[in-house]
Amino acid sequence: MNDTIASISTALGVGAISIVRISGNDAINIVNKVFKGKNLNEVDSHTINYGHIVDNDEIIDEVLVSIMKAPKTYTREDVVEINCHGGINTTNKILELLLKNGARLAEAGEFTKRAFLNGRIDLTESEAIMDLIEAKSNVERKMAINGLEGKTSKLIKEYRKKLTDVISHIEVNIDYPEYYDIEIMDDEKINNSLVELIEELEKLIKESENKEIVKTGIKTIIVGRPNVGKSSILNSLLEYDKAIVTDIEGTTRDIVEGDIYIDGVHLNIIDTAGIRETDNVVEKIGVEKSLSLIDNADLILVVLNGNEKLTDLDKEILDKTKNKTSIVIINKNDLDRNIEESLLNNRVVISTNTKELNGINSLKEKIIEMFKLDQIETLDYTYFSNARQLSLAKKALESLISAKTGAENNSPIDMIEIDIKNAFDSLGEIIGENYSDEILDNLFKNFCVGK
Ligand code: GDP
Repeated sequence: MNDTIASISTALGVGAISIVRISGNDAINIVNKVFKGKNLNEVDSHTINYGHIVDNDEIIDEVLVSIMKAPKTYTREDVVEINCHGGINTTNKILELLLKNGARLAEAGEFTKRAFLNGRIDLTESEAIMDLIEAKSNVERKMAINGLEGKTSKLIKEYRKKLTDVISHIEVNIDYPEYYDIEIMDDEKINNSLVELIEELEKLIKESENKEIVKTGIKTIIVGRPNVGKSSILNSLLEYDKAIVTDIEGTTRDIVEGDIYIDGVHLNIIDTAGIRETDNVVEKIGVEKSLSLIDNADLILVVLNGNEKLTDLDKEILDKTKNKTSIVIINKNDLDRNIEESLLNNRVVISTNTKELNGINSLKEKIIEMFKLDQIETLDYTYFSNARQLSLAKKALESLISAKTGAENNSPIDMIEIDIKNAFDSLGEIIGENYSDEILDNLFKNFCVGK
């Protein structure tokens, strides 16, 4: 980490301004070599300095250079940001000059990795930065900023503090049995100290799993036999014509996808090929795909034509989706009603007509109700924000439950202590207390370059 890294931090493209960032012991010195203006080695920290970037005698750009000296910087190292004009050639040329004068090209996420390794932020906060960059909705942004403010870290540190108290008590009891004035950590006391923590952790894990839907979105598929109006429903939801709608049966041969946001939650909707027995090879592939998608979907929209009686294929689709989270859409309600509604008594049913967009709002409202999307905005945003954090939290929970069971069954105290220590370690891993290089590399490589 002794070398000085540089990269373009803004999106590469034509824009008014671009920022080239450089961090490390030699950052100021390197920029000074290509800067014509004040001597940057002598300016105060946290100042913005006007001048030119030069390649020997050639002026490359007129720039503003921010000098930020360690430790109050993003990486806790000396950081210089060059605000240049946002042309692709200019920006690249400035980066090239920095590299020529001793900087190394930064890897993806390397600035943030340094912020972590230098102790400015922990792992959950690093992950929150990535979440913030990638946030597409208000809810995602709020969740990410909460992580960035360290709320999850704070909670984990509190849990670890409680466990440290229990562990140190146990150790004193083991090592100094003659000290009668120290509280004896008997099984009942261990149990009591763990019960509350287990409950809290269980609750947080459950809430985090619910909130995952905000990040991963609701995988929704539309199924139904040809010509019932699947593509029209997708178009009505998308409010623009993405799926091709025609009168010929089986037009939607392959799979058409679209994305909408309902109450800040992302719905990825897939319109499947019409499910039907067919010899047509292309359609057969589509049919197989749609059936395989049923199992992986969070929500299935089964579309029926209200103008017609239920066919065997409709009944089969209804049967295949009866135990899934699904909404049955009786479409074409502008036409005469011939469908046998009594056969749909135990299903969630919405009636629509895509010609006048009738019922489409009710469909959205039903989705909001089913997934409790209206409550997400008001929820507490402290949570485990990804699979890595969640699996470690679950591992910690398992160890705590094992410790509690041990205490209930009068297991040897040192065995119980091992479980508690394991829980302590797993919680520590969430915030990056005992990280492995492999985990770090994996995590930061998902960042964009320059962050
Ligand atoms: P898909 O094969 O299930 O995707 O069905 P499409 O969306 O391609 O629609 C098939 C036909 O039904 C088209 O001619 C649509 O215009 C028509 N259609 C779709 N929705 C409605 C509706 O609500 N009312 C009526 N009358 N026709 C509809």
